[in-house]
Amino acid sequence: MELVNLKDASEQVTFAAAVKQGLGKNQGLFFPKVLPKFDDIDTILAMPFIERSIEILTALIGDELPRETVAGIVKRAFEFEAPLVKVTDNVYSLELFHGPTLAFKDFGGRFMAQCLVEISDGKPITILTATSGDTGAAVAHAFHGIDNINVVILYPKGKISLLQEKMFTTLGDNIHTVAIEDDFDACQQLVKSAFDDPDVREGLHLNSANSINISRLAAQVCYYFEAVSQLSEAERNDLVISVPSGNFGNLTAGLIAKVMGLPVKHFVAGTNLNDTVPRYLKTGEWSPKDTVATLSNAMDVSQPNNWPRIEAMIEQGLVDKSLISGDTVDEEYTQVAMRQLAQLGYVSEPHAAIAYKALVRKMEEGQTGIFLGTAHPAKFRETVENVLGQPISLPKPLADCAGKEGLSAELPNDYQALKAHLFSLLG
Ligand SMILES: *Cc1c(COP(=O)(O)O)cnc(C)c1O
Repeated sequence: MELVNLKDASEQVTFAAAVKQGLGKNQGLFFPKVLPKFDDIDTILAMPFIERSIEILTALIGDELPRETVAGIVKRAFEFEAPLVKVTDNVYSLELFHGPTLAFKDFGGRFMAQCLVEISDGKPITILTATSGDTGAAVAHAFHGIDNINVVILYPKGKISLLQEKMFTTLGDNIHTVAIEDDFDACQQLVKSAFDDPDVREGLHLNSANSINISRLAAQVCYYFEAVSQLSEAERNDLVISVPSGNFGNLTAGLIAKVMGLPVKHFVAGTNLNDTVPRYLKTGEWSPKDTVATLSNAMDVSQPNNWPRIEAMIEQGLVDKSLISGDTVDEEYTQVAMRQLAQLGYVSEPHAAIAYKALVRKMEEGQTGIFLGTAHPAKFRETVENVLGQPISLPKPLADCAGKEGLSAELPNDYQALKAHLFSLLG
């Protein structure tokens, strides 16, 4: 796979380099120079999930990695299902939360970890990342127990839910977690300082594992095919997919699937009050506001970092702008949607509920709709119990870690203190 830096077309890299590097020069995102297209989509859709995913990722990555290598990565990364669950006659939920940390980020996180195992040739790497919740858990579990890769996760002390914290601070081994006595922005700033510091960047072979990594998007393309494969042929003819969006990585992957030949008529990008994209699609003006806190906190993003990739696909004529509509679901309607879903017999959490609401607002007569269930409702237990007025039980992965001891170090918001800590752990 050849990739181009969207901010500097003179920088062209391989898939392996893009996975190791994350971002290009001037903070530019990498995007494939050419996207493959399947001629016989029905044959692809008829395959089982793992085989089909190997086919898709081999087509995307090209001959840079041998097919057996890709197959090994896929088999180790995708050890759980993505079932399509019927909610009404013509609306389905694609449940992406059956992985170890109960969120769709397991797909991208685990695929990226296994790619790094293959392309780093056993050379030591340090993954340094900041999290406000879900990403930390997915990255920690994806890399836990992998030789020669150490993970350091910074998070704001006391500012994430206890259950979320337990999901990534109780693993130990090669997973090191640090509670920073400040907010999430401070954690991100510390990570940036480390990447700007050659002693640390080169001394510890840093990699960020954040959501702009191309390997994460490539992995996510696979479950869009899996969703459509579970529909009848009639239902595939006029299909709308609704994506709860924050950084817009998930929607980018959906659009790539469409370019590769997946039959999708329309995409809906559902956001919470952080609605930069829906406003942009309506007015043509890009005017981010201050980020506001909502019930769907994994989507509290006002400057979505994957949008330039979607913009590039539109500019290159790969997708038409009219393929995507935006919809903003406010806090009240997020709760309304959760209650409506519960009445239909489907317990959901705020992110998926936003996608559901946005979907039914945009669907037309005769269409089939899929909304993406990006997290297990138990991950947002408090909100779900408050809104629905009914208790929900903890699934095994959450129950297991809830009783374990957290292993985090605590540090002030001070770069020199972090640097000393990193070298004492890993130097
Ligand atoms: C990360 C996340 C999202 C947003 O996905 P993007 O790819 O950033 O748009 C939606 N829902 C949940 C539960 C998430 O964790």
